[in-house]
Amino acid sequence: MPSGHYEIYRNGEKIQGGYLVEAMCDKPDCTARIDRGLDFLCGETPGGDEYGCGGYFCYEHQYMAPDGQHGNRCFLCRDRGTDSTQTSPDAMVVTFADA
Ligand SMILES: [Zn+2]
Ligand SMILES: [Zn+2]
Repeated sequence: MPSGHYEIYRNGEKIQGGYLVEAMCDKPDCTARIDRGLDFLCGETPGGDEYGCGGYFCYEHQYMAPDGQHGNRCFLCRDRGTDSTQTSPDAMVVTFADA
């Protein structure tokens, strides 16, 4: 495992990670103080992966990963990788009534 303080790239931007790095919850209106350890990470890999965005969220704003997956998910990513059929929008049906 990485040490308590390391650098990672998230969306092309270098950020500090690790449980020794103090941070605030990444939910914009939340000021809970956390650190950038894996306890608060969204996804399974620092910097983000196919499961999570790589953000860091307090316990109130993170959720358990779906069955068979690891780590935590933030409120935005909690449904990622679960049911992909749900994301396809229904085709819009427009009916013109003959006036
Ligand atoms: Zn996320
Ligand atoms: Zn929060």
